[in-house]
Amino acid sequence: MSWVVVGGGITGISCAIELAERLGSGAGVTLVESDSVLGGKIRSLELGDTRVEAGPDAFLTRTTQGVEMLEKLGLQGEITRPVIFAANVYVKGKMYAVPKGLMLGVPVEIGSFLKSASMLSFFGRLRAALDLILPKTKLASDATIASLVNARFGKEVNDILVDPMVGGINAGSTTDLSLDAVVPVMLENYKKSSSRSLARSLLLHTKARDKNLSKPPESIPFASLALGLDELVPHAHKYLLELGVKVLLDSKATSITKNESSYIVSVRSGDGSTLNLNAKGVAVATPSYITKTLISDLDAQCANKISSIEYAPVAMIIQRYPINSFERKLTGSGVLIPRTNQGVVTAITFASRKWSRLNFEDSEILRISTGTFKDSRAIALSDQELSSQVTAEVCEILKATKEPTQTAIARWPAALAQYRPFHKQLVQEIRKDLASFTGLEICGSAFDGIGIPACIESGKNAALRLLEPTENIC
Ligand SMILES: Cc1cc2nc3c(=O)[nH]c(=O)nc-3n(C[C@H](O)[C@H](O)[C@H](O)COP(=O)(O)OP(=O)(O)OC[C@H]3O[C@@H](n4cnc5c(N)ncnc54)[C@H](O)[C@@H]3O)c2cc1C
Repeated sequence: MSWVVVGGGITGISCAIELAERLGSGAGVTLVESDSVLGGKIRSLELGDTRVEAGPDAFLTRTTQGVEMLEKLGLQGEITRPVIFAANVYVKGKMYAVPKGLMLGVPVEIGSFLKSASMLSFFGRLRAALDLILPKTKLASDATIASLVNARFGKEVNDILVDPMVGGINAGSTTDLSLDAVVPVMLENYKKSSSRSLARSLLLHTKARDKNLSKPPESIPFASLALGLDELVPHAHKYLLELGVKVLLDSKATSITKNESSYIVSVRSGDGSTLNLNAKGVAVATPSYITKTLISDLDAQCANKISSIEYAPVAMIIQRYPINSFERKLTGSGVLIPRTNQGVVTAITFASRKWSRLNFEDSEILRISTGTFKDSRAIALSDQELSSQVTAEVCEILKATKEPTQTAIARWPAALAQYRPFHKQLVQEIRKDLASFTGLEICGSAFDGIGIPACIESGKNAALRLLEPTENIC
């Protein structure tokens, strides 16, 4: 009897590692991945002879999961930090450095914020300062991020700073995203603080947090790998094999059923052959729309709940420009484009400024993000159309005087799960529905957090729940 993990993204990798490390090499852990490589969203594109990340390019190091995983894979010597991490925002034809003293786009130190927030109108700044005196905001249980930010600082702060930053990370809108599920730190600290001001509540939180640190907080709390984040993928594969995990690539799980003594994971291989894997425990670490299909034979109602977790489409365009192509000075690590700009570009990372390995004497590399939830304009375009559209927008934003010499495009039709109001309750309900299926776990970015550290934790926790002592599976 064995254990099966379905989905070889970072969540499934983490889950399979945890199972194999705890059970030992004879335990029979199989990782089933439909693609020809592991890694899921963690992959790179070739731009000529340069590899550039098509998905995540870094992970947050405020929590330990990411670095611990890299250490486990023997990659501690390869960990690298961005050279610079300082965003700009593009407003009405001008590029402004994002003000200091923000947390998740929200002003924390109002005084210094007001001095440096020149991208806001006079009224917008005045409105932001009202956070200090307005009565405490009462929050509904379905509060969105925008509902709190608008109430405290006004719509300008939301639209020009918080939405491009937090909405950008999630490829969603702060008017749709759950305060509770996406930025719990904001909600929890505002709720528990005696201050009416959101800025003050967050300032108190950061001070208390930093006081408890054994060393000063990192100025750039992000890390990646010297050759790009997807360097971890072959190392993870190798480590899994060393642990005795059977890795099935080009193998698509098509259904999960169960009999009295085990689950049966049906798998179709790339060559058309099929295979039934009997498993004592199964962890499903796929995107929600696949998880839904896989568990529909076991619990159709629960499957419907899972399918209500939707995704935003993203197309990532990597472009190489000759050096000195931009009249705009590329300071910082990139620029955020608020949706009021109405183009398809949501952010441009100055990749060659951010990462030393991408810094070339003769060229500049940009990573250009397009697409958000309910906005498929970019992904609907052909490669040629998308490339022209993006080039035109980059030209306007960065004042390009030359054309890109190379372009590569990655399309993620279902890039980032959208955690809408009541997301946490929905996930709790789903897990409650599945509680009667002992030995079956769901995990991954659809449920427990979209960032890489959260996915690692989600996979690990699924493994730990699977290993809780059980008598039988039914
Ligand atoms: C453009 C972009 C930029 C991002 N930037 C960052 C960032 O900078 N920092 C950060 O922390 N996070 C970032 N993220 C988010 C992060 O990359 C993802 O949330 C995370 O990688 C998801 O991991 P996962 O394993 O849960 O899912 P996935 O990576 O989606 O893995 C799921 C796996 O399941 C496989 N699969 C699907 N169906 C089947 C099936 N039937 N049978 C077997 N296998 C199947 C898939 O092929 C895939 O390998 C970004 C995401 C995107 C798209």
